Amino acid sequence: ITNQVAVSIENAKMYKRMEEMATTDGLTSLPNHRTFQSKFDEMIYRAERHGKPVSLVLTDVDKFKSVNDNYGHPVGDMVLRQVAQVLAAQARKVDLVARYGGEEFAMILEDTDCEGAKLFSERVRQQLAAQLMSSDRGSFRVTISLGVATYPVDGKEKELLVERADQALYRAKESGRNRTVAYSELKSMTKACG
Ligand code: GH3
Ligand code: MG
Ligand code: MG
Repeated sequence: ITNQVAVSIENAKMYKRMEEMATTDGLTSLPNHRTFQSKFDEMIYRAERHGKPVSLVLTDVDKFKSVNDNYGHPVGDMVLRQVAQVLAAQARKVDLVARYGGEEFAMILEDTDCEGAKLFSERVRQQLAAQLMSSDRGSFRVTISLGVATYPVDGKEKELLVERADQALYRAKESGRNRTVAYSELKSMTKACG
């Protein structure tokens, strides 16, 4: 009996570890792309049910290739972990911060409209820009660019929201990096949301 109990406890532990490995990014310990996809579905569904907004922020590290080139890949990895920490520290419990891809992160902000998402994005952007990264080749700073799309004003479906946040991010890059652009600004030619 004791042996059987021990075996099932081991199985449960192993199952939990495997589940963690499937849902978490190994480098940053953030939820991975797959988790982002399923949580975003759930969060849009909740927003719809409660008649509340939800904002998606996509962010990409500026000129990250040059960090790897100048300081080496392990320092690049360290930078990604630091970026992840800054983003996660700013988010609330109800939000989701995920590693979206290589040097791209996604944040889903519950009950947050375009204005709120822009304020949040600017806060994390400034926070990161103020942080000094250190390496054996000296210290340096990194910046990020951010794109915002908000449910339901910018789209009601996940795929469209991702596409539009990505378009906003592209504009942020194109117009000089180290800045936040909301999708609504692309059409209205204004600086404000909506
Ligand atoms: P931009 O400002 O336009 O975003 O320029 P960029 O250099 O950041 O863009 P690019 O897409 O050319 O480079 C991204 C780099 O990120 C290339 C790739 O080697 C690096 N990268 C992706 N994943 C990782 C990782 O896990 N660790 C490290 N160290 N580098 C990574
Ligand atoms: Mg990129
Ligand atoms: Mg980049």
